[in-house]
Amino acid sequence: MEYIRSDKRMSGTKRVLMEALPLLDVRVGYINKNIDSSINLIQAINRLKKEKNAVLLAHYYQEPEIQDIADYIGDSLGLARRAAETEADIIVFAGVHFMAETAKIINPNKIVLLPDLNAGCSLADSCPADEFADFKAKYPDHIVISYINCSAATKAQSDIICTSSNAEHIVSQIPLDQPIIFAPDRNLGGYLNRKMGRDMVLWDGVCIVHQVFSEQKLVRLKARYSGVPVLAHPECDAPILRHADFIGSTSQIRKFAVSDKHDTFIVATEEGILHQMQKDSPTKTFIPAPPESGCNCSQCPHMRLNTIEKLYLCMEYELPEITLDENIRLSALAPIEKMLEMSKEIA
Ligand code: SF4
Repeated sequence: MEYIRSDKRMSGTKRVLMEALPLLDVRVGYINKNIDSSINLIQAINRLKKEKNAVLLAHYYQEPEIQDIADYIGDSLGLARRAAETEADIIVFAGVHFMAETAKIINPNKIVLLPDLNAGCSLADSCPADEFADFKAKYPDHIVISYINCSAATKAQSDIICTSSNAEHIVSQIPLDQPIIFAPDRNLGGYLNRKMGRDMVLWDGVCIVHQVFSEQKLVRLKARYSGVPVLAHPECDAPILRHADFIGSTSQIRKFAVSDKHDTFIVATEEGILHQMQKDSPTKTFIPAPPESGCNCSQCPHMRLNTIEKLYLCMEYELPEITLDENIRLSALAPIEKMLEMSKEIA
């Protein structure tokens, strides 16, 4: 991960940048500066959004206080669409690195900021571009569908990108006799293979949050809350998905909980989503599915690296900024555009 100053920005905000540069150490990955305790950070962020014509896009897995000041909260598909539509000059991404990269791929002329460059993703990290190129070379007749949770360099080697909201819809448009490599999530790929009767070749990556839900504890929880539906994200392992009454992306899980007649749900995904689910349905009860570890929380350690303080500093100093090699960007843009085209019908 690295940051580079763009010359364009140096002319407009030179003073702020010159002040910020010593504070941004690539080894740290974020602006490391004490903040005056009298500053109301929520008000300051809202002011900066207006002053800089910036839009704040946040993933459902962010801290509730970040979700509450975002201009748009969504899953990867919604965020990619919003990034494609925005007229803001600056996109501030409260999410992880591959999401901010996706926004930059779509918007090369905008400034895209990520509060902490260390906010990675175990799925993206599991699929280094050079290893993926070797893997792909073994299957010359296959097309590549890559889950959006991968680096720009892996996207650049893909034919189509998908998200958990549109993966089934996209795979269903590929003729049955066309072999497919699906990367990097073996759980989502395996789920699609089972559900759709496909035989996609899977890259062996997992999400460290969704992989660790405990089947044993889930079964005990289901017995304790008899009749309560289990809502699960398809990044979960097959034994968890077997117990699910509904499988879908974070947006789909959220919608299901609003419209379903039950008043209590067990939810197997990152627990940040519970904040919006509870706001949607204040009288309903949402029980997080338990992970294997004793701590009983299912938080993505990468997503949680973004804090309100880092968000404020990143907007104030317009750093760290996401930059991309133009050849990689152009190669990664084509499969993203293909995804947006192929999933137009999906709300
Ligand atoms: S929850 Fe999993 S898939 Fe999502 S960013 Fe974190 S590690 Fe990646």
